Amino acid sequence: MADLNGKHIIVTGSSRGIGAGIAKKLSSFGAKVCITYANSEGKAKEVFSSLDGEGHLLLKLNTKDQESVNSFYKNVLECWDQIDGLVNNAGITRDQLLLRMKTEDFDEVYETNLRGTFFCTKSVLKPMMKKKSGSIVNITSVIGSIGNPGQANYAASKAGTEAFSKSVAKEIGSRGIRVNCVAPGFIETDMTDELDDKQRDALLSQLPIARLGSTADIASAVAFLLSDESTYITGQTIHVNGGMYLN
Ligand code: NAP
Repeated sequence: MADLNGKHIIVTGSSRGIGAGIAKKLSSFGAKVCITYANSEGKAKEVFSSLDGEGHLLLKLNTKDQESVNSFYKNVLECWDQIDGLVNNAGITRDQLLLRMKTEDFDEVYETNLRGTFFCTKSVLKPMMKKKSGSIVNITSVIGSIGNPGQANYAASKAGTEAFSKSVAKEIGSRGIRVNCVAPGFIETDMTDELDDKQRDALLSQLPIARLGSTADIASAVAFLLSDESTYITGQTIHVNGGMYLN
């Protein structure tokens, strides 16, 4: 069990799915958590009220929009005098075979997933540098390593996020700030609800651990990377995928 007592941690896109699971687990380990939503305010409020402990925040954030990111951080720093952790979890898919993929489908995925991670990471560096410590965890995907038909935009955004994370880890390790990724396999959320039974069965037949992952499986790896149990780990990706991809 990770000890996150006294840590102030932002989890982007925590109104539902993996982000909500991460937020709940972090609060159970003693962290103060900032829940963010883009559209699902009602769900975000439910997550917020389910958190353990006190001192949590609930704020709107659109990772695609630099103005939204700027005002989000201003609001966070008006309430908290430190930020110890950032989980760049907000992400979308717009699946389509490349020949049919619209430029908007590519741009929207890239802007939300990769450009959003750039905005949020850049903004958190100042408060972390002031404190000379911090841990940033970027949620990528097994698809960024293995590719998938119909997900060229998504795979590129996730592989790009891993390359981004390695570079930033090298830039700011000397300031006491670590940057790592957690790459989920297929996890039970709204994103994977879109799989039909045939796709689900085909997937399960390839998994050494024959089940879809849970949000709690991802949250455990994230909590470890945010904790002081992992202070010599930076620039890495932890794959949490039931053995779907072995690197
Ligand atoms: P999800 O259930 O669809 O939830 C997505 C979250 O991202 C929601 O909280 C959503 O907020 C937020 N979001 C979407 N667009 C946003 C924007 N422009 N600005 C800020 N927040 C935004 O997805 P999930 O399955 O939990 O996935 C979470 C992360 O894990 C993503 O990065 C995804 O790529 C990654 N991942 C998921 C799986 C999987 O199997 N589920 C596998 C590998 C990787 P609102 O609801 O408020 O709009």
